[in-house]
Amino acid sequence: MTKLHRMDYYFITSCTEERAGHYTMTDPDTTTVRVRFAPSPTGYLHVGGLRTALYNYLFARKHGGAFILRIEDTDQKRSIEGALENLMSTLKAAGLHYDEGPDVGGTYGPYIQSERIALYRKYTEQLIESGHAYYCFCTEERLENLREVQIKTKRPSMYDGKCRTLPKVIVEENLAKQTPHVVRLKYPREGTTIFDDIVRGRVAMENSQIDDQVLLKSDGFPTYHLASVVDDHLMKISHVIRGEEWLSSVPKHLFLYRSFGWEAPRFVHLPLLLNSDRSKLSKRQGDVAVESYLAKGYLPEALLNFIVLLGWHATEDREIYTLSELEQAFSLERINKAGAIFDIDKLNWMGGHYVRHLDVEYIAERARSYFEEAGIDISDHAKYVRVIATAREYVTHLSQIVEHAKMFYGDLTFTDEDRDLIGKENSQRIYAWWIDALAAQTSWTPEELSALVKKASADLGIKGKDFYFPLRLALFGNCHGPDIPTLIGILGRDEAIRRLERCRKG
Ligand code: GLU
Repeated sequence: MTKLHRMDYYFITSCTEERAGHYTMTDPDTTTVRVRFAPSPTGYLHVGGLRTALYNYLFARKHGGAFILRIEDTDQKRSIEGALENLMSTLKAAGLHYDEGPDVGGTYGPYIQSERIALYRKYTEQLIESGHAYYCFCTEERLENLREVQIKTKRPSMYDGKCRTLPKVIVEENLAKQTPHVVRLKYPREGTTIFDDIVRGRVAMENSQIDDQVLLKSDGFPTYHLASVVDDHLMKISHVIRGEEWLSSVPKHLFLYRSFGWEAPRFVHLPLLLNSDRSKLSKRQGDVAVESYLAKGYLPEALLNFIVLLGWHATEDREIYTLSELEQAFSLERINKAGAIFDIDKLNWMGGHYVRHLDVEYIAERARSYFEEAGIDISDHAKYVRVIATAREYVTHLSQIVEHAKMFYGDLTFTDEDRDLIGKENSQRIYAWWIDALAAQTSWTPEELSALVKKASADLGIKGKDFYFPLRLALFGNCHGPDIPTLIGILGRDEAIRRLERCRKG
């Protein structure tokens, strides 16, 4: 078993309601690593969610542990039809395969919280029984008024504790009358909660600032806080790795662990993702849906490599990693505290790197659907792979590749300006020379083609762009692009002659 890090302690000091005491933590020397990605199915997978999933995945792989997908759908108002399937397929498409989850099963299922509702009720009753939670019968209207007053008087918006000390008879009367109610956590009012986070270090929060969190809503559904603590315990989660926005919830969660008499997992809160102006990463400034990056043909390898560096770096000064290299190199201790900027230029740079360096057959396979969508016949596989080998030099993601490849298929179209250049005397001399040269021989090595290019230029006495632009225009439909031997190599002798013939007059 790998030694992870030293034992941390969690405690509340100087409380009147709760005596100071330790929270028991799982022992890192003997605990098997079990981590979870716990998204809510609210539509799409956010790039921040992919980073959370990736860090969990890498940590599990590094320590030979389990990576679990749990769906947190207890907020029925926010759940969206089809979002669950989308989440699962996007994670898989990105290359993050989970060991336990809704569709793959596992020992600790079900992995969808709405299928575990009875459990949360049972645990809520246990908390009420032990005096760590209470029924609250306050109406929406009262809570709304309370909020308004608190905002006006510039006090933090939180429950004032009216039902905290309701006499038992009143509670029983209300329950018998079926008065709508919620169940709240009876959080200590005094003292400080102190805990250690693997990224943030020691964190202290005043208990007076912590709300009596609703645990069970009036519709009988649990809130995130109760459900995630119950599930993290029952699913034997060793490390909770999640976004920084949940850091302030840790005291409530620790209080729940302690109330149940359970060991708490270790906490790891990941830094915020930021736009380039350092505001919180948002839809307004660009795409944040992983699905849309995948649909544009950013390679999963590039996306994961880019994402892993948003908040983590290895000891060495290096940026390019395969997933299996990351599985070795990753460590929680090297996650940064500071927010990480989502720099699209860097993603594009990395995207281009992977498109150019991965196996060309693999790139060709992944690019296939874009050609099919564009109605381009790529059945000549040898030609298609050569096209990809050339066109990939110009793109950062695969939906761009058709734009740089379509000129190898079908007839070229020319603008008036192109036609002027094609009609020039020198252009016509170039075309005639090449048609003869290509007709005289059936195949060439790339070196022979390069020699032929030099010879053409010398024979015709035409150099530089006066030579290359008209020739490339005839073969490729553009004055700029790949070199002539590459173009002729891809088109083949007959198609090259056909294209030159099209441009030759009379
Ligand atoms: N359902 C929460 C979310 O979507 C999960 C937070 C956690 O990992 O505890 O952010």
